Amino acid sequence: MSSAAAGLPLGSDCGEALDALGRASRIVLSTHHNADGDGAGSEAALAMHLAGRGKHVRIVNPTPFPEAFAFLLDDASRVLPVGGQEAADACREADLAVVLDTSEAKRIGPVHALIRHLPAVVIDHHPAGADGISGIVVRDTTAAATGEMVFALLERDGAAWTPQMAAALYTAVLTDTGGFRFSNTTPTCLRTAARLIELGAAPHDLHRRVYGSFRRRRFALLQESLATLEVHESGRVAWMIVPGAAYGRTQASVEDLEGFVDVPRSIRGVEVALLFRVAKDGQTKVSMRSGAAVDVNQLAAAFGGGGHPRAAGAVLPEPMEEAVRRVVGAVVGALAE
Ligand code: AMP
Ligand code: MN
Ligand code: MN
Repeated sequence: MSSAAAGLPLGSDCGEALDALGRASRIVLSTHHNADGDGAGSEAALAMHLAGRGKHVRIVNPTPFPEAFAFLLDDASRVLPVGGQEAADACREADLAVVLDTSEAKRIGPVHALIRHLPAVVIDHHPAGADGISGIVVRDTTAAATGEMVFALLERDGAAWTPQMAAALYTAVLTDTGGFRFSNTTPTCLRTAARLIELGAAPHDLHRRVYGSFRRRRFALLQESLATLEVHESGRVAWMIVPGAAYGRTQASVEDLEGFVDVPRSIRGVEVALLFRVAKDGQTKVSMRSGAAVDVNQLAAAFGGGGHPRAAGAVLPEPMEEAVRRVVGAVVGALAE
């Protein structure tokens, strides 16, 4: 399935998804934990579209809505913290859940238990994983971003576009392509972006907000992380570690890590880049990026994670040093095959 230039078709499930959205009156939206610009932007745009159709819409995510993308939400978009009574009530009273930018139950964590009794529409551009959310699944792994799919769906639904809706989806596509640089930057993706500009998205302003508004603490964290940069003797694998203690010293958080993995990725000859950070309960999170040499989605899946062939991630149970050894070993092994 691929979304054509006109934004059509997304496949047969697209019509079913629109029917389900049309019938529902109380809708809960969610996306994967640590929402990125794609998850946040897709949620914001869909929330505005559905609210415009008179639906009652609430956003319930497994982790707080990212501060960096809060500007995409309009006043009518209410985000309810998971774990709170309001979120539980909203999910109990809803008649439809929409999950964006993931189709895996474990990626929405505690939200899954809140919505599992509801019919669901899933809109995602990741390959199917082992732990799929059941419902009407609209999947297009050729889409650069979930936002590109949401754009096509809303076009087909005859959306009354506003500049805010266009800005939210432009941000989704902008961020998932790393500013229109990654291998997922296709003609369709750029046509979608062009259309969104015509509908009122302001590229210069959105670029400045996303890539030109970092906090100083991000660079303090980057400075400490750069000291750990290592390249494997083969020259084909490079990695960087975000030292756990650096968060406290710099007051930074995982939201400040946007783009860190581009440092090892941008070294000449490097085919697989890794970024390691401390995760909760002494676990270790790894982000993986690859050229054409290795399918990092498969590699990440071997560690219980997933993603795309060229961008994936996983959370390993072991502490940093062991996790680095195990993942680098696996990458070197995969490159040797
Ligand atoms: P990240 O490295 O966190 O920027 O994520 C890169 C890609 O991998 C994204 O498409 C994520 O959705 C996916 N991903 C990251 N972490 C995980 C995980 N623990 N499980 C499944 N997919 C992941
Ligand atoms: Mn995402
Ligand atoms: Mn995405």
